[in-house]
Amino acid sequence: MTHCLWCDIEIIPQITWETFLIYQNPSPICEKCDSMLQLLQGTRCLICNREHPSGGLCFDCERWEQNPQTKGLLTTNHSLYTYNDSMKEIMAKWKFRGDYVLIQMFQEKINKAYKKLLSKSYQPILVPIPLSEERSKERGFNQAEAIAECMDPKRIQHPLQRITSEKQSKKTRYDRLHSQNPFTIQHSITQPVLLIDDIYTTGSTLRQAAAILKSNGCPEVRSFTLIRG
Ligand SMILES: [Zn+2]
Ligand SMILES: [Zn+2]
Repeated sequence: MTHCLWCDIEIIPQITWETFLIYQNPSPICEKCDSMLQLLQGTRCLICNREHPSGGLCFDCERWEQNPQTKGLLTTNHSLYTYNDSMKEIMAKWKFRGDYVLIQMFQEKINKAYKKLLSKSYQPILVPIPLSEERSKERGFNQAEAIAECMDPKRIQHPLQRITSEKQSKKTRYDRLHSQNPFTIQHSITQPVLLIDDIYTTGSTLRQAAAILKSNGCPEVRSFTLIRG
């Protein structure tokens, strides 16, 4: 007997010829909870994947692309869900209360979306955006890592390290202005990288990670996030 991961209602599997003939993993959430999660739809911004009426570049991406320092850092971003109220609730529980198993709610959709991104010529290295050491201790797990594991654990690498915010605040204002990138690099990657994170909000964290990877020999950086904020 399975219970919905979110509302705990008992899930009664529907037997059809299809499910009878082919074994399918039972869904971890009930239909009602599944319908609260809203997949991104329709035309989107060509770079950041935000819903966009004409499918061109959104205002923010135009600004990123006009600035020579950030132009082309991120080729594209792919996100799955909108950040609606249900998703905010789920994320709060997942991230801040350390409910690791909630990743199962998204596992199948993440894996499908990842496989769709792949092609013969596109087989990226997966790089989850790291947490700082202090955050990592606080949370017990990195949600970006959990997302990457739903894709292909064999392709995950950890070239980046994140400076703790405490260390950053100890810097002088001058230092902060001139070294705003919170990431340092452990080893270079000379293949295309797909950065993984839980949410795309302003896109600056992903671009900071992309900048450091690219200045160390990475030819192309795209990103995948569970949510488009
Ligand atoms: Zn439910
Ligand atoms: Zn955009």
